[in-house]
Formats: sequence, C-alpha cells, structure tokens
Amino acid sequence: METDKPRLITSVYTGEDQDIERSLRPKTFADYHGQEKVKEQVKVYIQAAKMRGEALDHVLLYGPPGLGKTTLSQIIAQEMGAMIKTTSGPAIERPGDMASILNDLSAGDVLFVDEIHRLPRVTEEVLYPAMEDFVFDIVIGKGQGAKSIRINLPRFTLIGATTRVGLLTAPLRDRFGIIQRLEPYTVPELTTIIRSSANVLQIETDAGGAQEIARRSRGTPRIANRLLKRVRDFAQVKYDGVIDAETSKAALDLLEVDKMGLDNVDRSVLLCMMDKFGGGPVGLDTLSASTGEDAETIEDVYEPYLLQLGYIQRTPRGRVATDLCYAHFERNRDKSIDLVKF
Ligand code: ADP
Repeated sequence: METDKPRLITSVYTGEDQDIERSLRPKTFADYHGQEKVKEQVKVYIQAAKMRGEALDHVLLYGPPGLGKTTLSQIIAQEMGAMIKTTSGPAIERPGDMASILNDLSAGDVLFVDEIHRLPRVTEEVLYPAMEDFVFDIVIGKGQGAKSIRINLPRFTLIGATTRVGLLTAPLRDRFGIIQRLEPYTVPELTTIIRSSANVLQIETDAGGAQEIARRSRGTPRIANRLLKRVRDFAQVKYDGVIDAETSKAALDLLEVDKMGLDNVDRSVLLCMMDKFGGGPVGLDTLSASTGEDAETIEDVYEPYLLQLGYIQRTPRGRVATDLCYAHFERNRDKSIDLVKF
C-alpha cells in the first residue's frame, strides 16, 4: 500500500493545491456553482441580517473535504461586507488563545473556525458565552485571590466548518442558528466548475473533455480542479494542448483514476473487503489494519464517496460490499450476502 504517496484524488487539502486554490476560489455567489439550496437559504439570511443592520447568526457548515466550506464562508463574509479572520480547531490549544482571538474581533467580523470538531474541550467552553451572549470570562490571579472578569465582545459571526458533525458536542452545535450540509456535486455542476477553472487558467477544453474529468472527480470541486491541472500536463506533452474527451480519458486512465473516479486506494479498500472478508461485514478498524489506511481517513475521505456510489453499505456489524461494487470489478459474489440481514 502506497500510503506515503499523496493521493491524486484525495479531497483533503494538500500543499500543492495552494496556488490553484488561490486563483480558482470563487469570490461571489455567482461564481460559486451548485449547492443551490444552501445558497438560496444563506442569501436570505444575509439579506435579512443586513436589513436589520445586525451581524449574521452563527453558521455551521458540514460535509466532506473539498466541497466548498471555506469558499462559502469567505463569500458570506464578503456579502456581509465583513472582515474574516481564519483559524482552525487544532490551532487553538488553550482557552487563552481563544480569548485573545475573540478579543481581537471588531463589530460584524466573521470568525472562521475550520475543523471545529477538533477544538479542545476547555477552549470550546470559552466559546459558549461568547456565541450566546457576546461575553467571555477571564480569571485573573490564582487561588483565593483569583477574580473572574467579564469582558464584553462586539457582535460577531462565528462560521464553523467540519467534516464530522457527529463529533460536535451538543452545547456547541446548539449555539449555531444556521446549520447547512454541503452535498457532493453533480457531474453537470462539476463540468461547469471545470470549464470556468479552465477559463481562469487559460486551458482549452471542450464540453466532452470537461465532462470526462467531472465524472471522475468524486463529486468534489477540489479534486476536479486538481485533475484538470494534471490532464492539462498530459494534453500539453502528449496531445495538441486541447482537452477533449479522448485526451481526458487517456490521461486519467494513465493516472489510474478509473471511470467512476476510484483510485488505487479505493480499489484496495474494496478489493480487501471482497477478497479477504467475503464482502463483509467488516469493522472499520479491521479494514484499517488490513489496508494500512488510517481508520479516520477511511471514514472521512474514502467512505462518503463509496457510500454515495452505493458500492458499500454501513451496517451495525460493519461495512459490506454491495452487488454494485462486485459489478464494478466484474466479479461474482461467492456466497450470497443478504444485506437486509445486517
Ligand atoms: P472545504 O473548505 O470544504 O474543504 P474549499 O472551500 O477549500 O473546500 O474548496 C476547495 C476548492 O474547490 C476551492 O478552492 C475552489 O476552487 C473549489 N470550489 C469549492 N466549491 C466550489 C463551488 N461551489 N464552485 C466553484 N468552485 C468551488
């Protein structure tokens, strides 16, 4: 298993994405394609808050990596005419760190906390009164002489992003007035995203070429942009520079991203389920030990797409490979597994 080699189609942010993401990240709702339901609702909330002259309610955005949570947060701030300050759960180690971030906020600011489920508990607790009553308490001194001082904060908007909404504590989740789930994108939506990215990067594509990349992007704009960049290299070196369906197909086949967007890690997870465990059910930890992939990564990064494709099912006794999965690998199931049974 090539665990040390970065996955081409991982939806997790890699350093390599930095330059493309900076240039391709949409700055307005008009350029933010798809997520129509979320956009429609968020636009109403923004308009209403602006009409009342208030800060927007706190927003929680959740969904797998690369679907546009950070991008949407920046657009929300921009639409509100607000400054955005960005941090992440694991970066705020101590309550004092959180207090100083809060203390730096001005009225109307947006505080974006990525991976908010990874906030340490003691730090998270500082947020409760800050989110609810726009105050926080600091303790000065030690022992008997210690005094708690209450500090008032300006009205701000917290936008939290998470891939694991289930890990959020109830008190934190309950303090968000707006909770939105981002869904994987459809092939036509991704095709539009790829075509507009190609425009920015001055890459020549036709509809067929963009669509072929879209089909293999696992519903994720970050992956779509990354594949576009890779296919461009192939198009330049091996073809005449234009990305059409044939070029995309040849390039992606060479990159071992198959027609459903599966790469060798997905394939090894699925083959392991079928070959070593007769299609399952197999527990997450066993799967992790057998494939050498981190359990959390399997759950956050690989599984959502495999579930979406209907290649695996989650059952109380573990993961099961479905008939669709067997069909993808052109295999027959040895023993018949009755999914209903689990
Ligand atoms: P997340 O925060 O959910 O991991 P990001 O917001 O960082 O995802 O999105 C990753 C990249 O994907 C962005 O830089 C942007 O180029 C692209 N992207 C995401 N959502 C959209 C969208 N709705 N329309 C166009 N491009 C998008």
